[in-house]
Amino acid sequence: MKRVFHYIGGEFRPPSAGNYLEDLDPATGEVIAEVADGDATDIDAAVAAASRAFPSWRRTPAEERSSLLMRLADLIEENFEELAALESLDSGKPIALARRLDVPRAVRNFRFFATAILHAETKCHPMDDRALNYTLRQPVGVAGLISPWNLPLYLLTWKVAPAVAAGNCCVAKPSELTPLTANRLAELAREAGFPPGVINVVQGRGAGAGRALTAHPDVPLISFTGGTRTGADVMALAGPLFKKVSLELGGKNPNIVFADADLEEAVATSISSSFSNQGEICLCGSRIFVERTIYDDFLARFLDRAKKLEVGDPQDPSTEVGALISEAHLRKVSGYVALAREEGGEVLCGGKRPTSLPERLRGGWFLEPTVVTGLDCSRRVMQEEIFGPVVTVTPFDTPDEAVAFANSSRYGLSASVWTRDLGKAHRVAAAIECGTVWVNTWLLRDLRVPFGGMKESGVGREGGFESLDFFTEAKNVCIKL
Ligand code: NAD
Repeated sequence: MKRVFHYIGGEFRPPSAGNYLEDLDPATGEVIAEVADGDATDIDAAVAAASRAFPSWRRTPAEERSSLLMRLADLIEENFEELAALESLDSGKPIALARRLDVPRAVRNFRFFATAILHAETKCHPMDDRALNYTLRQPVGVAGLISPWNLPLYLLTWKVAPAVAAGNCCVAKPSELTPLTANRLAELAREAGFPPGVINVVQGRGAGAGRALTAHPDVPLISFTGGTRTGADVMALAGPLFKKVSLELGGKNPNIVFADADLEEAVATSISSSFSNQGEICLCGSRIFVERTIYDDFLARFLDRAKKLEVGDPQDPSTEVGALISEAHLRKVSGYVALAREEGGEVLCGGKRPTSLPERLRGGWFLEPTVVTGLDCSRRVMQEEIFGPVVTVTPFDTPDEAVAFANSSRYGLSASVWTRDLGKAHRVAAAIECGTVWVNTWLLRDLRVPFGGMKESGVGREGGFESLDFFTEAKNVCIKL
C-alpha cells in the first residue's frame, strides 16, 4: 500500500507518532493509500525547517524566486496527466474537470505570482518639503496554509504560490481526504530546486495538524479555506495570538435569472454552476431564482438537462458528475434531500443513487443531480450550505424581490445575474451582499481581481496584488528632509 509522508525541510518523513489515516477512492470506497496523520510534533518540525529557510529565502532576489516558481509551473504542466488522474482518483471529480479546471489553474497560479512579483510597485507619500514616506512590503515569515478537499491542488497552489513568491516560507496542511496531489506537488517543488524548508507539507487531520499549525506561536499568518464552522475555530485560535488571518469559507450562492436573459445560455451555465464537481465548489449557485414569467420554461429546460447529465466513473472522460467525497458527506447531502421533503418542498429529479452504475462502483458515494422546488427562503434547505448536487429553484416577481431573496442568507460569497438589461445588471450587482457577482456567466476568473466573501463567507480578500499584500507586512519609512 502506498504511504504518503510529510515533506519537511526538503525530505519526505514518516509521521513522528507513526499514525496513518486511510485515503479512500470516493468512486469505489476502496483504500488507495495510507496518509501520515500529522500532529503537533510534526508541525513543530515543519515550522522549524521553514524558520531556518526564511532568512535566506527572503533575501533571494525576486527574479530568482520567480524562476523557481516558473520552473514548478512547467513541471506541473509536464506531469499534467498524472496530476489530473491523481486528483480525480482522490476526490471523485470527473477526470475531464480535473483536466479542464484543476491542473491548468495550478499552473496559472504559479505563473501568475511568478510574474506579478517582477512588477511590484510601492507607494510614496511626500509631505511637502518636510519629509518623504515610502512603504516597504516585507514577507511575514512562516505562512500556515490550510486547504480543503474540493479543489485540492487548485486551492493549495493558490496559497503556496503567492506565499513563497512574496518571500515567505510555508507549512501547508492539505485536507486529510485528498493528500495525493499535495504530495506530488512537494516532489515537484524539490525537483524544481526550491531550497529545503521553503515549502513544507504536513499531512493529517484538522483536529491534529490543522489546529497545531493555527496555534503555533512561530506562524504569524494563516490562510484558511474551508467550512464556516471550521473558520470560526481557526479565528478563535489565531485571534489571541494576533495573527494575520484570511478566511475563505462557505457559500449559499444565488443565481438570478431575469425574463430578458438569453434563456438557453442561462440554462446551460446554470447546469454547470449547479452540478460541476458534484456541486462541491464553494462558488456553485445552489439557489436559483427565476422571474415568474419564464419560470415554467426555465424549469422545464433545466430539468431536461439535469436528468441527462452523465453520472458515473470519475475516470471516464465522458463523465459529467462523479462521486461525492465521502460516505459521511453523502449522508449529509442526502439528509438535506429528506429535509427538503419534510419542509414541504418537491424533489423534481434526483435525490437518489443512480441505478445504472457499473459493478466496480458499487461501493462509491454517488447521488443524482437533484432539483427541489416549493421552498421559501427561510427554510433550512435554502439557508444552509449543502455542498452537493442539490439546487433549489424559486420564482420571483421584481428585481427588488430577487435581491431580497439573494440577501436572505448568512453567506455572501458569490452570485450570478442573467439579464440583457445593462442598467438592471449594474443595479442588482451593486445591491447583492457578496464578494463576486458574475453577469451572464459563472466561474470566469481573472486572477488579478479581489476574491473573497462577505458575511459568514469569509474575512479578507486574496487574488492579484491583494494576495501579495496579505502575504507581506506594509512598513512605512518616514525620512525627514
Ligand atoms: P473543512 O473546514 O472541514 O476543512 C478544511 C481544512 O481545514 C482541511 O484541511 C481540514 O483538515 C482543516 N481543518 C479542519 N478542522 C480544523 C481546525 N479546527 N483547525 C484547523 N484546521 C482544520 O472544510 P472541507 O469540508 O474540507 O471543505 C469544504 C468547505 O470549504 C465548504 O464549506 C466550502 O464552501 C469551503 N470552501 C470555500 C472556498 C472559498 O474560496 N471561499 C473554496 C473552497 C471550499
